[in-house]
Parts: sequence; structure tokens; C-alpha cells
Amino acid sequence: MAFGLFLLLLAPSPARAAFKMRSVTVNGQTYVFLRDVATYYAMRYAPQKGLTVLSSGRSRLDFTIDKRECALCGVTVHLSFAPTVWQTETVMSERDFLLLLDPILRGAAVPKQKVSRIMLDPGHGGRDVGGIGKLYQEKTITLALSRRLTEKLEKYGYVVNATRTSDVEVDLERRAPLAENWRADLFISLHCNLTEASEVKGVETFLVAPEGTPSTYSNSPKVKSCSGNRFDKQNSRLAYEVHRSVVAAVGARDRGIKHAQFAVLRSAPCPAALIEIGFLSNRDEEKRIGSADHQDKIAAAIAAGIVKYRQSMNE
Ligand SMILES: [Zn+2]
Repeated sequence: MAFGLFLLLLAPSPARAAFKMRSVTVNGQTYVFLRDVATYYAMRYAPQKGLTVLSSGRSRLDFTIDKRECALCGVTVHLSFAPTVWQTETVMSERDFLLLLDPILRGAAVPKQKVSRIMLDPGHGGRDVGGIGKLYQEKTITLALSRRLTEKLEKYGYVVNATRTSDVEVDLERRAPLAENWRADLFISLHCNLTEASEVKGVETFLVAPEGTPSTYSNSPKVKSCSGNRFDKQNSRLAYEVHRSVVAAVGARDRGIKHAQFAVLRSAPCPAALIEIGFLSNRDEEKRIGSADHQDKIAAAIAAGIVKYRQSMNE
């Protein structure tokens, strides 16, 4: 174990510019004190048994000890590393703080970019039908959703394109280059979920795992970085805004924001998120996500999330 201090130099405000955050190394990973994180955001720090809560008037952050799942302002977020206790202090991974928490809580921590050209990526297509439910195939729902989302985004003034606009097969490896050649500012991939347990339902949103961190469904960190890692901070804020908006708008079960190594996210040429809008393997949810009314609500919510993301460029 090593104990240290690091200066947060990212913050533009003079008060924060000189803020000293204590750090400690545990098992080769750098952690910061949640007590200091609380001070940094002018929040109260309340360690309880197995849970540490940071709160201020409008915001509440719940960190469970030794669990990667946390709640940020009511939204479920899967951290790369579980918060833990060092001596008597609750600590969180410095990577999670810098790449996930800070960009979500503070617009100034998100690198600025133009948000005008949006490439949608309706999953699957053609012979690749994706998940198969009792009533619908995934490729049909993602294409219908992409068309609705295109309309909504164009009403906001965005320029929109899609990796496919009909029922054709598009290789996974071709999707990110399509976005790159078109000079996309954002990449939004649309999918439906499927699992053997029919009771499982809800919405989850993925971003690419930062270099040296594990995916949500893995414990071994990925060592090599990828193209998508250039946008780790933007990815976090984008996933957060889109996910929060969709969960709130349709009242879906919040399965959380998660990290993955999906090809389209790894090779994305711009900030990117992949949303799984619901489970084809759950009878009720399949009916809902197959309905025009529900797809329209999801499309409106994703568009609203993108607008919120663009607003964070001005914070
Ligand atoms: Zn899919």
C-alpha cells in the first residue's frame, strides 16, 4: 500500500484547482478517499455500515462497500472497481472517479466537442436477425426505433445517418468505419436484450471499458486501449444522459450503465453508447418494445438524452 496526494488540475474554478485529494494504492490500484470526493463536490459524507452516502441538496450518491454497482442521483451505474475500506476510510478507484463519476457530475470535466452529426446503429439486419422473441425479431425493432429516433433528432436540428436504413446485413466491423467516413460526432447503437431467465427485464446502456479496467461482466482488466478509449469521459456522460432519460420516460427497470468490449464501441471514432431497450425473452417487455407507442417514447427519450449531453458541452 502507498499513500499519496494528487492535485486535481482539471477543474476551472480556483477553489477546486488547488484541491488536494488523498490517494492510496491497494492491490496495484489507486483509490481516492470518498471523504475528499465529498468535499470536492461540497457534499456531505456519511459512512454507514456497508454503505457510504454522499449527499447535497439535490444529489445523492450511494456507494456499497465491495460492490461495483452504485447509484448516482438515482441512476444505477456499474463502477470498474468496487469501493472498499482502507483503514477506516471508504475509498473509490481513481479511474472511476476521473473517467466516470466526475464527467457525470460536472460538465466542466467533459472534454468539449461539436455535437451535430449523429450516426445511429440499428443492431443486426438481413440474415443476422439478432435476438428472437415469441413475437418479434431484434433486427425489426432496432430498425423501427432507428427510424423514429431519426425523426426526433432531425426535429432538434441534428444531422442524422444510420449504419443501415433497411433490412440488410452490415458486418460489425463495417459499422464504426461508416461513422468515421461520415464524420459522425456521436454514435448510438440500438439493441434488444435476450436471456434464458424469462423474468429478467429492463434497460441497460453500455460504454466501452477504459484501458486497464474490467468490463462489467468480467474481473480481469483489459490491458490494451482501443479507439473508443479516446472518449472515455464523453462516453460516461453520454451513456448517463441517454440511460437516465430512457429509464425515467418509460418507467423501465434500471439495469444500469455498464462497461463492455463490444466491437462497435471499441472502434468507435467518436463518443459512443449502446442501449439495450428491453428483453425479448420477457413476455410483457417484448410486447411493449414491439409496440409503436413504446418505441416512440424510447426514441423521444434517447433524443432528449442527446440534447442533455449537448448541453453539458456548455457547462
Ligand atoms: Zn443485439
